[in-house]
Amino acid sequence: MVKGNLLVISGPSGSGKSSLMKEVINEISDSYFSISSTTRAIREGEIDGINYHFISKEDFEKDIDAGFFLEWAKVHDNYYGTSLKPILKELHEGKLVICDIDVQGHKIAREKFGNLITSVFITTPDQKSLKERLIYRGTDSQEIIEKRLANAVSEMTRIREYDYVLINDDFKIALHDMLAIAYASRKKMELMDLGEFISSWANID
Ligand code: GDP
Ligand code: ADP
Ligand code: 5GP
Repeated sequence: MVKGNLLVISGPSGSGKSSLMKEVINEISDSYFSISSTTRAIREGEIDGINYHFISKEDFEKDIDAGFFLEWAKVHDNYYGTSLKPILKELHEGKLVICDIDVQGHKIAREKFGNLITSVFITTPDQKSLKERLIYRGTDSQEIIEKRLANAVSEMTRIREYDYVLINDDFKIALHDMLAIAYASRKKMELMDLGEFISSWANID
């Protein structure tokens, strides 16, 4: 019986996923952030093994063939993937496992884990503010920003596939709402052995 649950977050690059998750991980003690593997170049300020496992295209393809990934996808011309083993370990320990995956990855994860997943699509009030944030973050070239904005428009059409939509306008409000969703996801019925709970509840000895 799996005790933990999976919180999947998606949304356009620059919508605030990393900023929000950093706070959620600090706030919820039994949570675990799933570190994806990627073939994209490391950004200034990122740490290998903390933000991502930065690996070569060849190694990534070897891992695909070896069946290491719960899901993988090509996003903005780079490979991204979530390793299955660490997630299963943390789920069995009862943790809230948080995965930052794109819309393709969410679809696969949902097919594999069903209602064990709670999913949130994080976005900005409009495309203009997304562009401003990507420029403000200062980690990507003009060309890469344009690619991410184009991808954002197509990702936005898949919002309805998610349980929740979070518009990250005022950061404090968005964080408050994100924490509410994370805490509520822990109370899903699927997480409990209800049969055992109901029969032991009725036992008055
Ligand atoms: P950011 O969104 O600007 O922070 O850029 P990232 O490079 O961190 O993420 C790029 C894209 O890859 C996003 O759409 C992520 O949701 C997606 N992504 C990250 N990790 C994974 C993963 O393990 N699997 C899949 N399928 N997608 C991922
Ligand atoms: P993602 O992980 O989704 O790509 P980030 O967390 O890196 O997004 O956020 C992109 C940029 O926007 C960062 O510079 C971050 O500080 C900023 N940011 C995040 N949330 C807000 C907000 N509510 N208002 C203004 N700027 C924000
Ligand atoms: P970035 O390169 O800006 O960090 O991320 C770009 C996109 O890749 C984001 O939309 C992010 O959600 C997605 N992404 C990051 N890790 C994974 C992953 O493991 N799997 C999938 N499918 N997408 C990911």
